[in-house]
Amino acid sequence: MKKEISICNITAKQGQKAQGFINILDTETKMPITIINGQKEGKTVLITAGVHGCEYPGIRTAIELSQEIDPKEVSGNIIIVHLVNMEGFEQRRAAVMPQDNKNILRVFPGDKNGTISDKIAHVITTELISKADYYFDIHGGDLHEELIPHIYYPAKAKKEVVNKCKEIAKHFNVGYYAPSNNINGTFTSAAVNQDVPSLLIERGGCGLCQEEEVNLYKDDMLNILSLLNMIEYKRCHKDFTPEEIKYAIYLDAVKDGCWTCFVDAGQSVKKGDKLGVISDYFGNIIDTYYAEFDSTILYNTVAYSVPKGSSLVAYGRV
Ligand SMILES: [Zn+2]
Repeated sequence: MKKEISICNITAKQGQKAQGFINILDTETKMPITIINGQKEGKTVLITAGVHGCEYPGIRTAIELSQEIDPKEVSGNIIIVHLVNMEGFEQRRAAVMPQDNKNILRVFPGDKNGTISDKIAHVITTELISKADYYFDIHGGDLHEELIPHIYYPAKAKKEVVNKCKEIAKHFNVGYYAPSNNINGTFTSAAVNQDVPSLLIERGGCGLCQEEEVNLYKDDMLNILSLLNMIEYKRCHKDFTPEEIKYAIYLDAVKDGCWTCFVDAGQSVKKGDKLGVISDYFGNIIDTYYAEFDSTILYNTVAYSVPKGSSLVAYGRV
């Protein structure tokens, strides 16, 4: 007999699906989750969406997967967090958790005595990642971001964990996968501190939530569950064979200002090409950015306003 699974106050029995909100420790903050306890034994996969509350394709994918997957046809367990940052979603606040203005992606493994973002990270680390054999944090390009679908893998984890991450990344229908040298992210902390192979996936952007993107996202996630022998599924789309980004540059604004971007996500650029300029509020150019090598634009900011320290553009080469 397969065991039931409980996460905080929610329990799913064998062959059943349980849904509800879990509370973040002693706070009023909640997260909507689905636990799919499969009919048969198998691996446990964790999927989180909405770490950034305005990255809609990932969030809608999580919600639709939680509705569509039948526990009777699953081997193992699938735990889906539909929205990590529900307040960010409700208030349409890009990038951060409104209560403490922190980027939840950067506070892992969290702290039960910290502010709300630290507490959310702590709950995900101790209650969710601790149960997972694999973890996928699905993003979607923020309100102000345009991107080409790509993946980040945790480069600082143990070699065997890194290898597993890269192996899975190659099965996605995206053009590129890139190393992340952070260790305090959702997926990087999971891989470095808990040895759980984990990936962050990017697809979508600019506040859009198009059905086509969501269908591609779901196709990718169902295909991965099938590769892990958890469901039977034949993928519908395979347009890309992902290539590894060996070297990338992530440019941030050094001052507050007005951003004019000259490139689009997915575009090829040559060394020396002008990527964009920041002007002051009188129209005087205060900073100009050029490509340092021949590369592909992974993402770029489409917003005219760029606060100091915010990202402008990222480009990389294979
Ligand atoms: Zn994101």
